[in-house]
Amino acid sequence: MQKEVLGIDIGGVIIDRVNDGTDTSFFGDNYLRTTAVPDAFRVIRDLVEQRFGDRVYLVSKCGKKVEKKTLHWLAHHRFHDLSGILSDNVRFCRQRHEKSGICEDLGITHFIDDRLEVLSYLTSVDSLFLFQPRYDEVRRFAQHLSRVMQVHSWQDIRQRLLS
Ligand SMILES: [Mg+2]
Repeated sequence: MQKEVLGIDIGGVIIDRVNDGTDTSFFGDNYLRTTAVPDAFRVIRDLVEQRFGDRVYLVSKCGKKVEKKTLHWLAHHRFHDLSGILSDNVRFCRQRHEKSGICEDLGITHFIDDRLEVLSYLTSVDSLFLFQPRYDEVRRFAQHLSRVMQVHSWQDIRQRLLS
């Protein structure tokens, strides 16, 4: 049987967008104070321990500067200690469609992203989860909606993947 491998986006899935437009925005100087999405660390830990083991990867699209900030944020919040995801299991790319090649290389079978556009490129991945869908984005890429499962919180993901 094919081994299950989980891929997780970072922006909007682990690092919360509720800070956008405030003084704790990830795009400002106080990015270490940007908060995590509620329950993300805890549910990821459960996914590692109860289902996917060391086959969980973070896959993020961003520029060089945000890549550096992201690694700093993960270290500052002790993400790897608390979630159980290995620090080697983090991949960055510069374009949204490049997540597709990364998923193929890693044999990813399940992917969680907050952008329907990104999920639309992941043709090799069986189980696609659209995290906290945004109305305008969903409308633009609506023809791909039938391939994804919409989830509204990490508790929602726990329920889908661990029960
Ligand atoms: Mg994202």
